[in-house]
Amino acid sequence: MLIDSHCHLDFPELAADRAGVLARAKANGISGMVTISTRVKRFDEIRAIAEAHPEVWCSVGTHPHHAHEEPGIETADLVRLAAHPRCVAIGEAGLDYHYEGDYPAQATGFRRHIAAARETGLPLVIHARQADDDIANILEEETGQGAFPFVLHCFSSGIELARRGLALGGYISFSGILTFKNAAVIQQAASEAPADRILVETDAPYLAPIPHRGGTNEPSYVRHTAQKLAELRGVSLEAIGEQTTANFFRLFSKARPV
Ligand SMILES: [Zn+2]
Ligand SMILES: [Zn+2]
Repeated sequence: MLIDSHCHLDFPELAADRAGVLARAKANGISGMVTISTRVKRFDEIRAIAEAHPEVWCSVGTHPHHAHEEPGIETADLVRLAAHPRCVAIGEAGLDYHYEGDYPAQATGFRRHIAAARETGLPLVIHARQADDDIANILEEETGQGAFPFVLHCFSSGIELARRGLALGGYISFSGILTFKNAAVIQQAASEAPADRILVETDAPYLAPIPHRGGTNEPSYVRHTAQKLAELRGVSLEAIGEQTTANFFRLFSKARPV
């Protein structure tokens, strides 16, 4: 049994065959998944997916790539939308310095999402790319003003951000990148993170794990990442499934097993 803690079922690559995607997930022992918001203005769409399928939950938030499109989304808006019974997380939000972007808008949005996570008690799904120090500094500063649950999703940062995030009580979620050959640092983080802080995800439709690398990713493939995580930690796939599922329901505390 596995949970895909982060996917994008509303993206066209997956929306085209949603019934097939969900059926294959079920057939592969994926008992639940969170379809993650990237734009608040499209929240209705992902909320509808979560309402239609008991094994799907959703989040609410603005991805850093879209931060400049939604400067008017305040903490109160996120809190209000997150009250929906199928909405179990805030985000994804954070900082992405890989691409040119409106970094001040990303930081403002990130802090508003943190405030919403603190207020609701729902976990913040953090997108961090090539922004290790700024992410860690903001997390430390904001935690000083009041703790909030969070996960560093699709972990692809340096080991120092992993350690600083874990020290704040955060979780780390591993994606298909974990299976890639050049992922030594991510594999190190996966080996040394405490057992009660690890999650798995696909970030589908992107980042398909080996042996599907380069193709469209989907929740059923999360087992390849879980298998790699099991190998790295010297435990069975079953043990990783049990551990990451227990971790998921502890962190995403509003979600109930189906
Ligand atoms: Zn992301
Ligand atoms: Zn994502």
